[in-house]
Amino acid sequence: MQKRSVDAVVIGAGSAGLNAAAELEKAGADWLLVEAAQYGTTCARVGCMPSKLLVAAADAADAVERAQTFGIRVGDIQIDGQAVFDRVRRERDRFVAGAIADTERLPEARRRMGSARFVGPTTLRIGDDAEIDAKAVVIATGSSPVVPPIFDAVQASVRTSDDIFELSDVPASLAVIGTGIVGLELGQALGRLGADVTFLDRSTSVGPLTDPEVQRYLQTELRRTLNLELGVTLVSAERAGAGLRLAWKNPEGEERRGEFEQVLVAAGRKPNLAGLGLERTGLALDARGMPAWDPQTTQCGDAPIFLAGDVNGHAPLLHEAMDEGRIAGENAARYPDTMRHVRRAPLAIVFSEPQMAIAGQSYASLDRGRTEIAEVSFEHQGRARVIARNVGLVRLYATRDDCIFRGAELFGPDVEHLAHLLSWSVQQRMTVQRLLRMPYYHPVLEEGLRTGLRRLARQLKVERGRPCEDFGVSPGM
Ligand SMILES: Cc1cc2nc3c(=O)[nH]c(=O)nc-3n(C[C@H](O)[C@H](O)[C@H](O)COP(=O)(O)OP(=O)(O)OC[C@H]3O[C@@H](n4cnc5c(N)ncnc54)[C@H](O)[C@@H]3O)c2cc1C
Repeated sequence: MQKRSVDAVVIGAGSAGLNAAAELEKAGADWLLVEAAQYGTTCARVGCMPSKLLVAAADAADAVERAQTFGIRVGDIQIDGQAVFDRVRRERDRFVAGAIADTERLPEARRRMGSARFVGPTTLRIGDDAEIDAKAVVIATGSSPVVPPIFDAVQASVRTSDDIFELSDVPASLAVIGTGIVGLELGQALGRLGADVTFLDRSTSVGPLTDPEVQRYLQTELRRTLNLELGVTLVSAERAGAGLRLAWKNPEGEERRGEFEQVLVAAGRKPNLAGLGLERTGLALDARGMPAWDPQTTQCGDAPIFLAGDVNGHAPLLHEAMDEGRIAGENAARYPDTMRHVRRAPLAIVFSEPQMAIAGQSYASLDRGRTEIAEVSFEHQGRARVIARNVGLVRLYATRDDCIFRGAELFGPDVEHLAHLLSWSVQQRMTVQRLLRMPYYHPVLEEGLRTGLRRLARQLKVERGRPCEDFGVSPGM
């Protein structure tokens, strides 16, 4: 058994782990990065990047469809599913190669392949042949798709986001279990590329948006093109020829069945904590085996153990994983003198069509007694009509006592961009009046936001600002 002592071990060479390692290096610490499976990160290999490549193919098909609206005739659209997946994999492989190269640039003595588990409070066994004593440990082991037990007997026949990108063609029929971000993005993209898709979810909401008005609107809108079966209970899953037969009960208790060439299980993700031996760290664990954790330090209690990235389940998004990696790496180097970090304003985007986003506070997190809410529809918005994408609803939130803009839930064309502007405004604690003094070009989708913000200002009974008053120039200039 090889033995080694270091300042810090980082478990997991994903986006969080690599950022933690970079901070440890900056601090001049003696660190070791341990990876159980492969370099390349979840984001590049089976997450953000291949999913967005598939969505980009679906967007291209939609753009051709939409061209008809403008009087542009392009004949019958043919989708070459093999070519679609070939490009997804080709581009995905470029991103993965980049992430692997970044990891392999780290000195060899700082990297070790093998599965890490605790054998003492800060002592780790790597595989069967190495034991590392560390002053601090960063756990950045990520998360894995959950496959509900009803699929136990047919597990080999269902797909998750881990292997859906290995399909050789767009399936003729697809069941998607789960209407969360992953299920919606992948299922809708495959539907737009020609698959006959049925979405099944035990919950009655779609995507992460919590505002009941936006949920109602988006479900009505999505049902025009998607077969959404919500509030259902899966009853059975069995093989049927080369595919699967599923049975489920709808909210009225009626049993329904369907046969599908492919089934994508997107029923959530669980933190990769099993087998880590956290019980040997002395940390108090809850019923799910999770230690208490502080998002501002990433530290578990007072221990020299830090949780970064998807493994803590806090905000399973790439930019958050990278931030947490940096905070964990810095604090592992400084332990016990850890630093608290102010986290960024929340921002989550769903690459559905139309897109969804939460910028700043969600509806569910508002103190509703103090909050004014205004809404704006994209149905008659100038630019949205120009581009024939006039579908969508945005709800904007501000607190009454200080007029500070707190957040928004958005459903509409390319709201990824509006959501950035709004989350930046939340982070800067801008008032509704200040937001209205920003420039708005014409004709752009941001003018829709201005309409909503004007309504919010009226409801808040505040002066909504005149043009140029902050710039000392006359409106005529
Ligand atoms: C389909 C999909 C689409 C997504 N799209 C987006 C998006 O558009 N935008 C966005 O912001 N986020 C998106 N995400 C989320 C994003 O991918 C994650 O938030 C991010 O990749 C998490 O990084 P991480 O470092 O926490 O985990 P990972 O990158 O998974 O790294 C964890 C590493 O730890 C290793 N490991 C596990 N256990 C051990 C052990 N015991 N010993 C040693 N090593 C171990 C694993 O092998 C892995 O390499 C998406 C995710 C999915 C699945």
